[in-house]
Amino acid sequence: MIPQPHGGRLIERLLSEGRRAELESSLASMPSVVLGVDQLYDLAKIGSGAYSPLEGFMDSATFRSVLDHGRLPTGLPWSLPIHLPLPRPEDRAASEKFRPGETIALVDGHQRLRGVLHFDERFRFDPQRLAEASFGTVDPTHPNVGEILRGSDVALAGRIEAVPDVPSFAGVPELSPRAMRELFQQKGWKSVAAYQCRNPPHTAHEYIQRLTLEREDVDALLIHPIVGRLKTGDYRPEVIMQAYQALVKGYCSPERVLLSPLTISMRYAGPKAALFLAIVRKNFGCSHYIVGRDQAGVGKFYDPYACHRIFDQFDIGVTPLRYEESFFCRTCQSMASTKVCPHPATDRVDTSQTRIRKALAEGGEIPVELLRPEVAAILRQPNVLLKEGDN
Ligand SMILES: [Zn+2]
Repeated sequence: MIPQPHGGRLIERLLSEGRRAELESSLASMPSVVLGVDQLYDLAKIGSGAYSPLEGFMDSATFRSVLDHGRLPTGLPWSLPIHLPLPRPEDRAASEKFRPGETIALVDGHQRLRGVLHFDERFRFDPQRLAEASFGTVDPTHPNVGEILRGSDVALAGRIEAVPDVPSFAGVPELSPRAMRELFQQKGWKSVAAYQCRNPPHTAHEYIQRLTLEREDVDALLIHPIVGRLKTGDYRPEVIMQAYQALVKGYCSPERVLLSPLTISMRYAGPKAALFLAIVRKNFGCSHYIVGRDQAGVGKFYDPYACHRIFDQFDIGVTPLRYEESFFCRTCQSMASTKVCPHPATDRVDTSQTRIRKALAEGGEIPVELLRPEVAAILRQPNVLLKEGDN
C-alpha cells in the first residue's frame, strides 16, 4: 500500500478556474496582501496537499505548538512553522482592520492573484524565538536566520485556497502529490524511497541511490530536487535538473527511477528540516526517505548526524534510510563508507561540493570517481551558480 498522507488524507485547497476568474475580476476592490517568495511557495504547497494536513497558514496556537513541541496541536509531528509574515509595512498596517471571516486576496509582487486567505487571526511573534526554536541559533550569518531577524514580526492566519501552480524546469514538470500518487499506482510501486537534494549529483549521491534500489523493501526511487528559492552560490534550478536528467538518462532504470522537481524554499534547519522534508515526501506517496550526512545543513551549524537521530524522536510513518558519508576509496577501488572500508582517509577521493567546484573552475579533467562525464559537461557551462540578486 502507498502510505496515507500525513494526518490520514490528502488536503487539497485549490481554486477552481471559475472561482479564480471571479476573484480576479473583483481583485481591485478586495483587501489584499503581497506575499514574500517563500510564502508564495508555501501557499502553492498547502493548496496541492504537499503540506497535508495543513489547510492554511498557521494560527498563533499552532505556531507555538510547533516551536515548543515539534507537533501540531493534534499531536501530529510537524517540525517547522508554516506561517504568513507580511513583508510590506503598508500591509501590516492595513491588516489591523481585517475581520475574522473576511476573504483576503494573496498576491505576488506583480499584483497577480495567487490565492485567498479566509482570515482568522493576526498575531505578532518573536523572530528570535522563531529562529532559536526552528534553526537552533540566532546567529544572523545563518541564511534563514538573518532573514527572520531582519523580517516582519506580524503574521496572518487562516485557511487558504490557492491558484493551481504547475511549473516545470528544464522541461521536467513538477508533479502534485495527487499526480505523483496516481503515477506510483500505475507503475505498481508500493514502496518508493524519496531522495532529497539541492545539488547536482556526484558519485557519492548516486551510490546511496543505488544502495537504496538494491533493498528488497524498496520498489522505486523518487529523485525530488528542491528547486525553489535557494541561496547565493547554489546551483541554478535548471542546472540541477539538467544534471539529474543526464544521470537518470544515462545510468538509471526508467522502470525504477522517477525525477520531478519540487518548488519550495530551502530551509537550512538541519534535523528539523530533514523531518519536515520527509513529511512532505510522505504526502507525495513515499514510504521511505533517504537521509545522508548533514542533510539540510549549512556551514557548521548542525551536528552532521543530528538529522539521523531526529527520526528516533518523532515517528512520522516513513522509514528513514540513514546513510553515513560515502566516498571512492583508491585501495578498495570502489565507493565505500567507513562501515565497510578499513583504509585511511588519505586513500579517499574527496567528493565534497567544494572540491568539485574547484576542479570545475580550474577547467581540468574531472575524475569519473567524482562525477559522471555527462554531469560534468553540464556543470562546466558558464553561469551555473546563483549570484547575489538572482534569488
Ligand atoms: Zn578502502
